Amino acid sequence: METTAIVIYISQLTNRAKYVLDFVFTEYFGIDYKVVHPNDFDGTAGISYGVSLEDCIAIPNAEILFESGIRKIDYTAGLWEDLETILPSDGYTIPFDIFSSIFLCLSRYEEYETNERDIHGRFKSPNSFLVKNGWINRPVVDKWLVKFKKVLREKFPELIFVEKKFAYIPTMDVDHAFAYKGRRFSKMILGMMAHPTSIYQRLKVMTGHSKDPFNTFEWWLELHERYAIKTLFFFLMNDNGKHNANVSPDAFILKKLIAHLSVKHAIGIHPSYNAYTENLLSDEQTKLGVKTNLSRQHFLRVHFPAYFNWLIENNIEQDYSIGYADRNGFRAGTTQSFYFFDVLKNQQTGLRLFPFCFTDAVASFYRPSTDEEIQEEINNLIHEVKSVDGCFTVLMHNDSFSDVLKKNNWREIYNNILCSLFGSCA
Ligand SMILES: [Zn+2]
Repeated sequence: METTAIVIYISQLTNRAKYVLDFVFTEYFGIDYKVVHPNDFDGTAGISYGVSLEDCIAIPNAEILFESGIRKIDYTAGLWEDLETILPSDGYTIPFDIFSSIFLCLSRYEEYETNERDIHGRFKSPNSFLVKNGWINRPVVDKWLVKFKKVLREKFPELIFVEKKFAYIPTMDVDHAFAYKGRRFSKMILGMMAHPTSIYQRLKVMTGHSKDPFNTFEWWLELHERYAIKTLFFFLMNDNGKHNANVSPDAFILKKLIAHLSVKHAIGIHPSYNAYTENLLSDEQTKLGVKTNLSRQHFLRVHFPAYFNWLIENNIEQDYSIGYADRNGFRAGTTQSFYFFDVLKNQQTGLRLFPFCFTDAVASFYRPSTDEEIQEEINNLIHEVKSVDGCFTVLMHNDSFSDVLKKNNWREIYNNILCSLFGSCA
């Protein structure tokens, strides 16, 4: 008889335990699970957590799922055959606490463990155990789950798993939709004074004799249409201060662009640099002109848990900020989306987090690299994501594809990304 449910022997179904079991079984494997106290073991084979029961797959319990609050965790690496793990323990079928390990990665527990922040108030990527252990370029959570699935399949061949499929999500942050157009008069004058050599080009653009160099949207749309893929665009709707947009959020040409893109593509808000501290999200959402519940924070200035609770208060349902500005890779150890779990309140929320693993910003602002180096890094990331049938999400910027900025040939690099992703060039 075929079955799609599995019995899990666990002494407490805490909020943390339920969060992980829902992610692993319901979402990732697509199978139901039934929780039973180990004292009520009746001989039915299943998974035993923290105890060894006859005919069960035994998993050690590092106690993290049964705790509340934050403590210092020992992230020393262990091995599950050839796969690296944390929270190792001998004498069990699975030689590490896979459930607590996944909880630590998805909840971003380590980001609560330190108050150390960079100049933009962000968690410092070198403080992540995934970076320290050299795993940031590998989706460890997905890898653990692929191997765990193999063990489950061998033990319970009747279980029917939902097959994972490789997916691609292109996303774009539009910080500066235009290089010259749509600016307030004062910003235009300041721009001319700062870059006097560009005055001629600026005049050509303003008088309609030349295309605005940051307006690379038609090129992007035409390219993606060939592959029949949609883009998620995040617009910055604030031109105050040095860290925000140069284009006025009230500019007609910006509203026209957003309306045009929203016909076939998803539009999200890109909360401005001080949106959280000055509580500007609602105003900026209004300026967007289209309704959205999608968000990605400008400069990725996020922090757990307050920032994400603030998104929820502002009716955001999906956030795409999980990734680092200064290095590529898997910040939460996974290619998959997952719910934001507030570790301080010890509860799951309804906000869904979508991590990305590659952004042009790393090479543009933090780690200058040659086109070849960037290409090699992307190919490695694509290989990792494909090996777990995961979701490859990238964060690009429209101005990277401009002729004005020539540090890297992003048009060629991005063309190559699509060719690699789809196996051939469209
Ligand atoms: Zn931005």
